[in-house]
Amino acid sequence: MNFEYTERSKELQARVDAFMQEHIFPLEKEYYEFVTQNLWQVYPKLDELKAKARAADLWNLFLPKNYGDFSPGLSNLEYAPLAELMGRVLWASEIFNCSAPDTGNMEVLAKYGTPAQQAQWLTPLMKGEIRSAFLMTEPRVASSDATNIETSIVREGDEYVINGRKWWSSGAMNPHTKVFIVMGKTDPEGPRHSQQSMILVPKDTPGVNVMRPLSVFGNFDSPEGHAEVDLDNVRVPASNLLVGEGQGFAIAQGRLGPGRIHHCMRLIGGAQRALDLMCKRVTERTTFGKLVAGYSSIRQDIAKSRCEIEQARLLTLAAADKIDRFGTKAAKDLIAMIKIVVPTMTCNVVDRAIQAHGGMGVCQDTPLAGFWVYGRTVRLADGPDEVHMYQLGKNTIKSAAARVEMVR
Ligand SMILES: Cc1cc2nc3c(=O)[nH]c(=O)nc-3n(C[C@H](O)[C@H](O)[C@H](O)COP(=O)(O)OP(=O)(O)OC[C@H]3O[C@@H](n4cnc5c(N)ncnc54)[C@H](O)[C@@H]3O)c2cc1C
Repeated sequence: MNFEYTERSKELQARVDAFMQEHIFPLEKEYYEFVTQNLWQVYPKLDELKAKARAADLWNLFLPKNYGDFSPGLSNLEYAPLAELMGRVLWASEIFNCSAPDTGNMEVLAKYGTPAQQAQWLTPLMKGEIRSAFLMTEPRVASSDATNIETSIVREGDEYVINGRKWWSSGAMNPHTKVFIVMGKTDPEGPRHSQQSMILVPKDTPGVNVMRPLSVFGNFDSPEGHAEVDLDNVRVPASNLLVGEGQGFAIAQGRLGPGRIHHCMRLIGGAQRALDLMCKRVTERTTFGKLVAGYSSIRQDIAKSRCEIEQARLLTLAAADKIDRFGTKAAKDLIAMIKIVVPTMTCNVVDRAIQAHGGMGVCQDTPLAGFWVYGRTVRLADGPDEVHMYQLGKNTIKSAAARVEMVR
């Protein structure tokens, strides 16, 4: 399989890289200092950086179809290396309006929203004027099985009334977040995969109570945050429902295909940068009369990391290519494979880079700790490893059985 990028993708790769070298890398440390010392405040230079990216036509690059003036209409394979470049700095994708959960939410609105829903929420999201959150996971049920979700969405006249408790609502703490996409049940007695619906809930609706931020390994991921949210008799117009009652599960599945490519390519960008930093560090320090780079164990760590990154990259590009040519459903096994492989690969590669940095590797002087946390949390978010393995194992047994039948 050959992943020769199109001229358009190569040209954009050069421009995204140049933009990051000029505008993002120089502010990387200043950004972290600001957000760790000013909880729930947005970095003051963020809007200025976004305006520059927009003026440079490096905006909404993720959206795989052409949505008017808002998107250049790249394929997943064309966009994947751009996500990798952005992943070298944990907060860079937002500057290009390409950050989760907005990307997935914009795709949902672009694919499934009515013209009125798109005018109210998609347009400001595409312009980067507001941000959004996706509320599926609940504290009271094992949410890796989405059919367990308990939040109720009940029709009353021209309104829906929503009651439930959500958590891990990424972005809900951000002062710029104005809308939630909430998943709940409109028909708890219906067929298992038709009970759920998705509905748009403005964050300032009475009854929406953003209760507390959850920490991730002691860090709040400010200003996005991951919130626990109570929904207490929240009333929204019936026209806020996405597609129709019973379509929530189907929308959730559609939302996660390209989103997993984005996460994985960003993680690969982080892993590649960790390896680059490791290579630099070991050529700068000497122990026991020898450069650290000269030790065989260090070279093995570097060689293993390079192999693992390249394997993960090729697998992820194969998944992107399959989505482009045959659709998300046909690519489901490859999407499961990257979700299983890439976050763990990132943790392993970054862990080796941390070790080679000594104490410096765990503090704020490098981005390594942040890359490790990102890899570790994506082993849970968008479905834990085991759930993808459970499904991939099942599909593999089924396809092997078909092959065995054919050769008998
Ligand atoms: C940083 C972060 C950000 C997140 N952002 C969002 C967000 O924006 N919106 C949102 O809705 N959710 C979000 N989540 C939630 C995430 O999607 C859930 O945590 C995840 O789906 C798992 O659900 P759960 O926590 O209820 O774990 P559970 O469903 O209780 O699962 C716990 C564990 O059980 C085991 N397990 C489950 N099923 C199987 C199986 N089939 N085989 C073997 N073992 C199994 C696994 O080890 C699994 O990790 C986020 C999570 C994190 C950590």
